[in-house]
Amino acid sequence: MSDVRDRVRFSYSTTVSHRPGLALVSTLTGSWSMSSSLLLRSLRSRTLSRSYGFSLSSPDRLQFIQTEKPRTPPPSKSLVFGHTFTDHMLTIPWSSSEGWGIPKIEPYAPLSLEPSSTVLHYAQTLFEGMKAYRDEHGKVTLFRPDMNMKRMNTSAERVSLPTFDGDALIQLIKKLIHIERDWIPREPGHSLYVRPTMIGTQKFIGIAPPSEALLFVICSPVGPYYPDGFKPIALYGTTEYIRAAPGGTGAFKLGVNYAPAVMPQKKAAQMGYAQNLWLHGPEHYLTEVGTMNMFVVLRKGDSVELVTPPLDGLILPGVTRDSVLSLARGHASGTYKIPNLPEKLIVSERPITMKEVQEAEASGNLVELFGSGTAAIISPVNRIGYLGKDIHVPTGEDGMGPVSRPIWTELVGRQMGTIPSEWSVPVTA
Ligand SMILES: *Cc1c(COP(=O)(O)O)cnc(C)c1O
Repeated sequence: MSDVRDRVRFSYSTTVSHRPGLALVSTLTGSWSMSSSLLLRSLRSRTLSRSYGFSLSSPDRLQFIQTEKPRTPPPSKSLVFGHTFTDHMLTIPWSSSEGWGIPKIEPYAPLSLEPSSTVLHYAQTLFEGMKAYRDEHGKVTLFRPDMNMKRMNTSAERVSLPTFDGDALIQLIKKLIHIERDWIPREPGHSLYVRPTMIGTQKFIGIAPPSEALLFVICSPVGPYYPDGFKPIALYGTTEYIRAAPGGTGAFKLGVNYAPAVMPQKKAAQMGYAQNLWLHGPEHYLTEVGTMNMFVVLRKGDSVELVTPPLDGLILPGVTRDSVLSLARGHASGTYKIPNLPEKLIVSERPITMKEVQEAEASGNLVELFGSGTAAIISPVNRIGYLGKDIHVPTGEDGMGPVSRPIWTELVGRQMGTIPSEWSVPVTA
């Protein structure tokens, strides 16, 4: 332990408030005469052992153990999504008796886990995906990180992993990104993909809320999803497998949702389709595309309707989905006009069936269909294999459609900092 302390070369202090912790614990005791930090510490662990800890260990206790073998980031051209990781990672242990422990930024390295760790047996694991962008002046930003923290806490609750103070974790992630800033590629369209993860680490082959957990964050430099321009993809309207079910876990970013989708994806690929279009129920409601949310654009008289399924428990509440919806709604209501987006735009969160898509194709009213997510941002679709036939979806010359193109342009502008936006959050040291 002292060895670790000796190697700490960096101590970090911020103004992140402990008040969420205080608000609750102050009702548990009246002994305010203790030194405040002592009080906080004792109260925090008392609270946490009862309530699955909502107050993440304070960022001001962060320890930084710098790598002794710094690497040179590889040339941006050679980057393949999700294969390269930076020099450091953030780790924060949790236990039901101690609450959140000391956060550490330490060299990226294998984790040491007991073979009996709950995560290895019952998939007590969740993750997030967010990106840090560097603008042309070198300023580094995150895109709506509060949304990721909110979702991560929702996921944690769903699998009985501990919750935490999202603002405190953002502070720590910013610190990590600042340390790794030279790993953010400078080329346009590139970014640093940030992967917060939480796992149950208790050594116990029993199905119960784990009494120990580990939150960690790793970073991966990534290039643009479509380096040579948009390439519309073909989907397989999957009727033999499902991704999510009512009352299940589809609305949460849990590891358990993803492994079962790999085999159906492989089968779709063997038939010449890039991704599964996940359907629900005998009506074949469209839900999601691979690991992306989904939008359909329909012509309705002299208007166009942008449709996405509602957040009914089957749909992962994507940050990109929410951003597309709020941009489209701002445009439709006239509060924030987006250049080149059709003037008469109807924005609908409503169920949509394959029958409706087929009929729209037949009547020439299917305008476009696209997926949305942090990795690809917008992914246009040109074909859907469904019950032995192909539905053809129009795409423009550049692969995009009349709604996705202007929205993509606005979204990327806000992410890269060329369009000022509250969604873009600076990563300051
Ligand atoms: C992560 C994810 C999305 C997209 O969410 P974003 O926050 O926009 O990246 C959509 N669907 C599934 C199943 C996902 O895992």
